[in-house]
Amino acid sequence: MIRLEKVSYSYPDGTPALKNLNLVIKKGEFIGVIGKNGSGKSTLALQLSGLLKPQAGKVMIRGMDTRDPSKLPEIRKFVGIVFQNPETQFVGRTVEEDLAFGPENLCFSPMEIRKCVDMALAETGLEKYRHRSPKTLSGGQGQCVALAGVLAMRPECLIFDEVTSMLDPESGISVLEIIKKLHGKGKTIIYITHNLEELHDADRIIVMEKGKIMLEGEPESIFSDISLEALGLDLPSLIELAETLKTHGVIIPWEKTASP
Ligand code: ADP
Repeated sequence: MIRLEKVSYSYPDGTPALKNLNLVIKKGEFIGVIGKNGSGKSTLALQLSGLLKPQAGKVMIRGMDTRDPSKLPEIRKFVGIVFQNPETQFVGRTVEEDLAFGPENLCFSPMEIRKCVDMALAETGLEKYRHRSPKTLSGGQGQCVALAGVLAMRPECLIFDEVTSMLDPESGISVLEIIKKLHGKGKTIIYITHNLEELHDADRIIVMEKGKIMLEGEPESIFSDISLEALGLDLPSLIELAETLKTHGVIIPWEKTASP
């Protein structure tokens, strides 16, 4: 559904951010992306959404080349992106107005806009805030507005760039729950995070390092890979705790059931 072929990208000041990157994302996958600061995660997100074009190689989104300007409106409908700071994404005076902005820009009919806004409000549990100014909401609610704003455009693929990193743990969990439900309904999810704990249920995890994919695999294989620590990334605390307990002779229940 999304394919990156030998993609390289450097910023105008010459900083290389992606180097000869290949990646295929299938419909309905939940892909977690991790890596140290500056490893290229956000640049990858921008490439996957068509907001940045590769200088070498190509990004194909459902058969559409992101370098072709005539395809951009269709790509915008297909992929939505939510960033770390929701406030940078608010455009409306009320939540409802904010959510209508995207579908309006995509020239949906007034009836369609109303339907999309209502659906996005329901999916994010924001119905009761529809007439509030998004700026008066809490951090978690604000991030839900940003998410709902993208959902209102009915994209098939959603990219999240560190969306829980500015939230308190409880709000972060609620936002992630909404995202998991969307995945359950068939949306393709690309989820960038610093918090490995959030990726237990991912179909695949990609580890970025210096503009390249360093490691790729299912959560269990990534979490047990020693090189994660070499990359300066923490193992999820549950796994870390299990490893410590094992050294003290404690049998870990899930390992006991996994053995023949
Ligand atoms: P990450 O999301 O993993 O922190 P980024 O994709 O933001 O990584 O950054 C990759 C590289 O590109 C880093 O070296 C970073 O400093 C650089 N970079 C990111 N954004 C810009 C920019 N707007 N201008 C110049 N360099 C940038």
